[in-house]
Amino acid sequence: MSAAILDGKALAARIQAELTCEVQSLQERFGRPPGLSVLWVGENPASAAYVRNKNKAGQAVGIDVAKSQHLKTSTSETQLLALIDRLNADVSVDGILVQLPLPEHIDSDWVLNRIAPEKDVDGLHPVNLGRLVRGEPGLRSCTPAGVMRILSEAGVPLAGRTAVVIGRSILVGKPVALMLLEKDATVITAHSRTADLAAITQMADVLVVAAGRPELVTAAMVRPGAVVIDVGINRFTDYEGNSRLVGDVDFDSVREVAAAITPVPRGVGPMTVTMLLANTVQSYKQRLIE
Ligand code: NAD
Repeated sequence: MSAAILDGKALAARIQAELTCEVQSLQERFGRPPGLSVLWVGENPASAAYVRNKNKAGQAVGIDVAKSQHLKTSTSETQLLALIDRLNADVSVDGILVQLPLPEHIDSDWVLNRIAPEKDVDGLHPVNLGRLVRGEPGLRSCTPAGVMRILSEAGVPLAGRTAVVIGRSILVGKPVALMLLEKDATVITAHSRTADLAAITQMADVLVVAAGRPELVTAAMVRPGAVVIDVGINRFTDYEGNSRLVGDVDFDSVREVAAAITPVPRGVGPMTVTMLLANTVQSYKQRLIE
């Protein structure tokens, strides 16, 4: 069997095209576009690429990103908190995202918790995570929401199925497990202390892998016919110095046993930024319409 490829890039492009139309009609109706402020402190080169990508994608769908800011490494925690307070009060800003990691002298939790929950488009505020735990509507974190959208668009049944999530981070593993539970899957979370990982993964009808370990999941660990979602993004450099991205799943072997699989790149990654844009539009609509 060769698995169906779940093309996150194509899905992201379709959703972004839909968002572009929606933003245009919202702007005509309410006289302003949704506003997103991405705050980046310091010079982390990986953050530079992520922030550029988020602002560019926002602009492409018509979201106003003029209030995004790049702040010097020397910015104090007090200055950053004061800026967040101003953006919380700014009626033209619907979404605020603080790019992580922050410089060491700034407490990330303190900063993330300062964002107004209704503008927390990254879905990482304890209020939004609490809403997820309680099964209440709220802004959902972007990468897990992207995983769920890939599964729903592919028509993957979840109710009563066994879903295994590898990884328990607050960014990916825990929220995705809760979202699968919300869809009535029977969810098992595996992590770095799990004994006999393969015995657990072989139970999965749906396997979501977010471990940050290149090609951790091999064909022998996957039940034939399973749906495999690879969240991992790892940079691999070969002995000649050529660099490429690999996921947490050994794509070439696993595609021979799985029913469907996301590639890396072109899988979950493009959906993360798309869910950020969708959250910004959702926040705008909640604030202006509901
Ligand atoms: P993390 O390091 O915070 O968490 C990794 C989790 O995996 C931990 O809970 C750990 O217990 C578990 N783990 C580690 N090694 C394991 C092993 N050998 N067996 C079983 N479990 C193991 O990482 P994260 O922030 O959750 O990210 C995970 C991966 O997803 C990374 O590769 C990251 O780059 C990627 N990621 C991708 C996107 C995207 O947009 N596609 C977004 C966020 C993170």
